[in-house]
Amino acid sequence: MAYLSVNPSNGEQNRAFPELTDAELEAKLAAAAACFKDWRHLSYAARATIVSRAASLMEERAEILARTMTLEMGKRINEARGEVAFSTSILAYYAKNAERFLTPLKLHPTLGEAHMESSPIGVIFGVEPWNFPYYQLARVAGPHLMAGNVLMVKHAACVPQCAIAFEALWTDAGAPAGLYTNLLISHAQSDAVIDDPRVRGVALTGSVAAGRSIAARAGRNLKPSSMELGGSDAFIVLEDADLEHTIKWAVWGRMYNGGQTCCAAKRFIVVEKLADAFLNRFTAALAALVPGDPIDESTTLGPLSSESALLELVGQVDQAVTHGATVVLGGKRIDRPGSYMQPTILTDISSDNPAYRDEFFGPVAMFFRVRNEDEAIALANDSDFGLGGSVFTRDIARGRRVASRVETGMMFVNNISWSDAELPFGGIKDSGYGRELGDMGIQEFVNKKLVRYAALEAPV
Ligand code: NAP
Repeated sequence: MAYLSVNPSNGEQNRAFPELTDAELEAKLAAAAACFKDWRHLSYAARATIVSRAASLMEERAEILARTMTLEMGKRINEARGEVAFSTSILAYYAKNAERFLTPLKLHPTLGEAHMESSPIGVIFGVEPWNFPYYQLARVAGPHLMAGNVLMVKHAACVPQCAIAFEALWTDAGAPAGLYTNLLISHAQSDAVIDDPRVRGVALTGSVAAGRSIAARAGRNLKPSSMELGGSDAFIVLEDADLEHTIKWAVWGRMYNGGQTCCAAKRFIVVEKLADAFLNRFTAALAALVPGDPIDESTTLGPLSSESALLELVGQVDQAVTHGATVVLGGKRIDRPGSYMQPTILTDISSDNPAYRDEFFGPVAMFFRVRNEDEAIALANDSDFGLGGSVFTRDIARGRRVASRVETGMMFVNNISWSDAELPFGGIKDSGYGRELGDMGIQEFVNKKLVRYAALEAPV
């Protein structure tokens, strides 16, 4: 398997990259392990110099980085620019705050004194998805490098140019050899990296299937791991919601990044009183999106990331219909070059329809009508996933109450502003474990060491 860069808006192959040989992989592992020996002892200020320089380079190269992403996985150019800016800010955030997050914590034993200190653990291996080609990398690079670890990353096979461009930021920032390493490797080589004793932790963002495989491999090696997996987030609309405001978030929440976001709104659960009005307006808003070249700023509907992603999604919709779902809008690929899917809304999804438990990774919304708040919460919780979710109501206290009762890692009231450098991101159940971003994100791969000092006599 090679790493192929294909433009999904027209199917043309841009570039192809061979996988590393085992000998090349070994040389990179050795360089990473050697780098850790020094990097771990550098001050936070010295580490921050490199991380800040990489952030500055990212800012300088923003336009070319964004265009590479658009050409490689079809993200609409303005969204691509937004992702580059956000990734830059994540690196800057950890450069500024890492020392504060990892400062020793004084404890209060009955005798003597004690503290917990945080030390890096070694080479961390990240496996990352194509849907946010830089943001996902910044989410692991910022915290783990600032903590004193070093990082090796296997990016998705369809975004090699983004992977290489991100690695170049570190080289050009003057990072020591081995600090950040992009690995163009196979799944079997990825297993070998997880098994390697020089690698001390594993961070995956990806599908549930990848999570099961990689977490099992890490577990067998007794290595800590963090798993950021899929989701099927509920978008709950209560009868007192501001419909105007809610529809805007519904469209953005389902359609941002072509619908290919782990914590996108995927299940629209609307209380009876607003159900018809919501469905009519939501349908009209999605129907108004116009497919076009994602590099063109005026395009409102881009392609999916790849032809295989499109075929899988169309197959899921067909299967849902076979099992009784009704297509209110769309349901098919768009008849034009490239991998474009019609914005789609499905209703009448019974609990025995496979769609009920599936993640639709693209512009496909599932619509459910419920009688009241309790039914909405019960339906939201009847999911194998537990990543995020949202609730729309004019009553903030009610929104907070509902948010507390939905079983996910993240909830949003009257918005779905998913991600912020300061806010921990992650899920429960099949959506995985561990957190990225914020203070919690930097704590995943550090040794929390207890040090006690007390002039005690040894017991006899
Ligand atoms: P995927 O197939 O799991 O791929 C993600 C990454 O894992 C890729 O680099 C892939 O490499 C690698 N991979 C998959 N199986 C592997 C294995 N057995 N061994 C080693 N590496 C393996 O996921 P996807 O379908 O491309 O991405 C979308 C999924 O990611 C969705 O489920 C989405 O919800 C989830 N996601 C979650 C978050 C979050 O923060 N929770 C964020 C974004 C996306 P190859 O490309 O070489 O196969």
